[in-house]
Amino acid sequence: MREPENLEPFPRTDPRDVGCDEAMAVLHIYVDLMAADEDAAGRYPGVAAHLAAYGPCDVDFAGLLGGHQWLARRITRRRGDRPRGLGVRPVRNAV
Ligand SMILES: [Zn+2]
Repeated sequence: MREPENLEPFPRTDPRDVGCDEAMAVLHIYVDLMAADEDAAGRYPGVAAHLAAYGPCDVDFAGLLGGHQWLARRITRRRGDRPRGLGVRPVRNAV
């Protein structure tokens, strides 16, 4: 039997991908950086690569970011402030 020439046995992953454990360990910081309009992907390129693979961690990321945005809207509405970024500043040195 002849194998197709361009068929790879496994899907390629981004070599920068840090994997689930490392991505989950800093996901809250990554979301805080995004909420503050900072360069989360530039600071954590391995996490960005992992999330770009659209696996279960990306679902967790979307949920965490959605919760962050919801909270920022509530705080902003209550204070009557104009939103800055998502309205919530990141916690520094939170590792
Ligand atoms: Zn993962």
